Amino acid sequence: MTESRPLPVVDYLKIPEKGEPYLEGYRCKKCGAIFLGERNVCSKCFARNEMEVIKLSDNGKLHSFAIVYRSFPGIDVPYVSAIVDLEGGGTIKGNLINIDPDPDKIKFDMPVKLTYGDALGRKDKEGNSYLSYFFEPA
Ligand SMILES: [Zn+2]
Repeated sequence: MTESRPLPVVDYLKIPEKGEPYLEGYRCKKCGAIFLGERNVCSKCFARNEMEVIKLSDNGKLHSFAIVYRSFPGIDVPYVSAIVDLEGGGTIKGNLINIDPDPDKIKFDMPVKLTYGDALGRKDKEGNSYLSYFFEPA
């Protein structure tokens, strides 16, 4: 039995042996476009094999959001589904937590930061837990 370490919910969430988890992106050395997930060709300028791996910022601004009321087994509603523009580039989707799901309290462009935590108690067949990322007001 090895020590159980949480598994990332997505492959661009990296969990180092030591230190804090972070999100990994790919930046095109030709045009600077940033993407999530490994790729060889830039979808913006179509440059080939010009991708470099970068660590994405933990800070960003709320680009848009939706308050989700549609329930799903094991998911508490309402929750806030958000799109966030990260500082320095990269746009990612995730849930905004630690805020009332009230449209009067959530502002476009409000500063948010990434936080990492257990993915709603989900486990795989071996009983490993999953680590996910969330946004919260900065
Ligand atoms: Zn490019």
